Amino acid sequence: MSSAGMTGRKGQWSDIRRNVPPVTGVSCPVRKMPLRLFPRTRSPIPSTTRNPSTRAPEREYRAMKEKTYVGADLDDLGQVFSADVLIVGGGPAGLSAANWIKERNSAANVLVVDKATTGFSGGKGNKGAGVLFVMSEDDDMDAFREFHVKSIGHYLNDQEMLERFAGKSLEVVDRLEKWDIHIMREADGKLAKVEELPLWSLCGFDLDMMAKLRKLAVKNKVRMLDKTQIVELLTEGNRVVGAIGFSILDGACRIFRAKSTLLANGSCNYMVTNMWSSGRGDGIAAAYRAGAEMRNAEFGNFYNLHLRGNMAAIVGGQYALYSNQGEPLAPKYCEDFECDINIGIILGMEKEIMEGKGPVRFEPKEYFIKNPLAAKGFLFRWDRPTAKKFWERLFEKEARYTSDHAKRPEVIPGFIGELSCIRVDHHMKTSLHGLCALGDTSHCGSAWAGATAAPPGRIRGAALMYTFVSALLAAESVTDHLAEIAEPVIFRGQVKRFKEEIYGPMDRNKGISPRDLIFNLKEVIAPPLYSARKSKERLLEAIGKVKEIRERMVEVSPAKDWHMLGLYHDLRNMTQCADIYFYASLQRTESRGWHYREDFPVRDDKHWLKWVIVKQVDGRMHLSAEEIPIERYRSKPNG
Ligand SMILES: Cc1cc2nc3c(=O)[nH]c(=O)nc-3n(C[C@H](O)[C@H](O)[C@H](O)COP(=O)(O)OP(=O)(O)OC[C@H]3O[C@@H](n4cnc5c(N)ncnc54)[C@H](O)[C@@H]3O)c2cc1C
Repeated sequence: MSSAGMTGRKGQWSDIRRNVPPVTGVSCPVRKMPLRLFPRTRSPIPSTTRNPSTRAPEREYRAMKEKTYVGADLDDLGQVFSADVLIVGGGPAGLSAANWIKERNSAANVLVVDKATTGFSGGKGNKGAGVLFVMSEDDDMDAFREFHVKSIGHYLNDQEMLERFAGKSLEVVDRLEKWDIHIMREADGKLAKVEELPLWSLCGFDLDMMAKLRKLAVKNKVRMLDKTQIVELLTEGNRVVGAIGFSILDGACRIFRAKSTLLANGSCNYMVTNMWSSGRGDGIAAAYRAGAEMRNAEFGNFYNLHLRGNMAAIVGGQYALYSNQGEPLAPKYCEDFECDINIGIILGMEKEIMEGKGPVRFEPKEYFIKNPLAAKGFLFRWDRPTAKKFWERLFEKEARYTSDHAKRPEVIPGFIGELSCIRVDHHMKTSLHGLCALGDTSHCGSAWAGATAAPPGRIRGAALMYTFVSALLAAESVTDHLAEIAEPVIFRGQVKRFKEEIYGPMDRNKGISPRDLIFNLKEVIAPPLYSARKSKERLLEAIGKVKEIRERMVEVSPAKDWHMLGLYHDLRNMTQCADIYFYASLQRTESRGWHYREDFPVRDDKHWLKWVIVKQVDGRMHLSAEEIPIERYRSKPNG
């Protein structure tokens, strides 16, 4: 289908409905309603938290249009929305930034766009462990920085950002509590925390946080537009002036014009592991294509330890692993105090198996004794009704569907991914004007965490704390200068070109499914062979395989299904992220922290106290290495 029938010109909705193929998938809004035999009763769910995915897109657009429609000049190309601040992604980063912006400037016109449902979506904040990193009053910042930079970040940290991040955490707790988000406290009012961690605090909160953030956003008059997949950033020279995407329900083209754009649409997890499957790197790839710099991308692929039978993650399970001959692995492959999984144990597991000592087994009793995170069952130590319900349901399902209990104790590395490499400064600004990157889009790129795959960066709970800190910093920097920012100008030519690229695949009536190529991509990115134990030879092999996948994308047909078109763009973004990761890994010819090169197994401070920077220039990838200003920092490699 051509893109002509997808525009939102006045009075054309009926044409659009007629022209588009039927929407498939779980969230199809066009349903046959059953005959109502009983009088309508009030929904027990308050209207502000009710899942709005069933609202007709027309109604949503009309309501939005009344307040924001400004784009007469682009009217024929799509539905045009205007905002002071456009936030892409309604997860914890996007929603908290939106609320903080409105609290600082209630007149600001803030629009949150999500490809799923703001506050309920593929976002991860409402289905996690509910743990939060905090530097509490009892923790020593100098000791924490020294430990982190030496043992986790391996001197690749932006140490000033590290202190800024940790230093803001108590303020975040305070602000979240003002929003009625419950951070667990003891009877005496002190933060309730896992006692076993010596240098920082791990606190708990309940998983109803996202519903509260959304409710607050409604109250603050933050505008929200769901089921809209942002594909590209619109630019005016070196400035980002908005974005373009499409409705995954009816395919309508949506053009956004904004003074400031905040990317808050998550990391890249390549759809490998279930609970992380929503992270497809859309924001990272779009920022890269627009010319933004990426940093520390070679630390992008994280592995958890998973039970083979059901893929359940055993956080901190490194202390409870045994070879098939009963030899404990921790003394061989772990440092004295491993606060979380290290690359050493992943490489060690592989080595044991190659030497015929596999499979690697898990001893649950040891786990609960030795692991500082699991000690005393940290998931259940706090009274958190929503988290309790979530975890109990998960464990109950696990028991129901995992019949093969004989396999439970076998442990394998479970690929998570977590490319989060958009480079940001201390105010969350990217290298492009008008563009900030928050939360999982820039966790590694902010460089606070250094040479570790982040999130979680070997500190559980740091993911959400970074999410909130980055949202707060971005809200401050965006609102302070809003009035002075010039009105954005959008170029018709760019919009037209992007539209052709976005809808191009819909012209192909026949072809392979994007799912087939996504499967092929998973086979390249997930094995430790390519993403943990790296070498020049294997990285080039992986790059070659990604190239083959990209070349085959011309064969993909979304089968006239808007969800499949979305998946096509996910695939495109994920291949781009894989490229960024593999090329950055190739560039760093040493081993450091979570980055291990078999052909360069030693850390090389003489040549590699540098950040690898990746950016796209004139359509080609450009790689460089930038000196770390180590002289300016307080922790240095030799004392
Ligand atoms: C199982 C699990 C458990 C976790 N537990 C914890 C924990 O206990 N503590 C902790 O600190 N961290 C935890 N994390 C990590 C934490 O949840 C994430 O760091 C956090 O959710 C990141 O927030 P975010 O808003 O940056 O991104 P996300 O939560 O990923 O939200 C991104 C949003 O952007 C939307 N989006 C994506 N692409 C587009 C697009 N193209 N257009 C429009 N919208 C788009 C998505 O639908 C989503 O709503 C956990 C993660 C998982 C998966």
